[in-house]
Amino acid sequence: MQGKIGSTGFVNKVLKENDLQAKKKFGQNFLTDQNILSSIVNAADIDRDTLVIEIGPGLGSLTERLCQLAGKVLCYEIDGDLIPILKDNLKEFNNFEVIHNDILEVDINADIDSYRGSLSKVYLVANLPYYITTPIILGLLSKTSKIRKYVMMMQLEVADRICGKPATKDYNALSIAIGYRAKATKITKVPRTVFIPAPNVDSAVVRLDLYDALPYKAKNEEHFFKFIRLCFNQRRKTLTNNLGSEYSKEFINKMLSDNNIKPTARAEELSIEEFIRLSDYIVDNQGE
Ligand code: SAM
Repeated sequence: MQGKIGSTGFVNKVLKENDLQAKKKFGQNFLTDQNILSSIVNAADIDRDTLVIEIGPGLGSLTERLCQLAGKVLCYEIDGDLIPILKDNLKEFNNFEVIHNDILEVDINADIDSYRGSLSKVYLVANLPYYITTPIILGLLSKTSKIRKYVMMMQLEVADRICGKPATKDYNALSIAIGYRAKATKITKVPRTVFIPAPNVDSAVVRLDLYDALPYKAKNEEHFFKFIRLCFNQRRKTLTNNLGSEYSKEFINKMLSDNNIKPTARAEELSIEEFIRLSDYIVDNQGE
């Protein structure tokens, strides 16, 4: 089923009628391509038993497609100017709710509990504001385990990092922080030309499927997340050098040798399981 909102003509008309321009400070790039909208909703596999959370509905192009499929769609939009337009564009749907707030400030668990009713599944689907992609994803992953699937449009470079595999240039602390909790899949690349206005970068849609049981669990997760940031602090340096700001050379040498990791290794060569082993080793031996 296609929608009426996600097209160049509709977006231009609504902006003109309301004397509005897309706001750069809120990362506003409105999606105008029904095929891309179909790829996003198909990747999410939504049904009437799903509460969908959408961040930044904008003029409602993705929201419209979500409302056609979901039990309920709960949106967070920071831009008050868009709220009446959005409500008008989506007036035919009775399963749509919008909260005028900054997604980084909301109590997501309380909102899910008050809006989900008897819906058994909670997914997040969004064309994200690119200036806060990482804080949004890491913030939600750490705050809630109620959202089991994320389908998100983001800058291509960030998508590649999130999906990065060990020993590739894209693998970094973000790949690990997300890979710890979820399987990340790049669904499709999206050219900049399908947005109004066109951003300076290409985009991609990424799906995160959260693990029901973590494949490997760190003894102290807070320490683990801090530790991976330290390991990747300066990418060109060896692990020994990056860890040197926190631990003695003797301790680092012993830890690497006890865990069969060569002293010249760089962070990008280690698997998530190896990072967890090292983090656990520190927790066991230094109590951090
Ligand atoms: N979903 C629409 C679409 O696909 O055409 C708009 C996507 S646009 C890339 C990002 C949207 O996120 C804008 O509507 C913007 O106002 C909103 N936004 C930006 N920062 C936000 C925040 N901190 N919390 C909630 N919404 C935000």
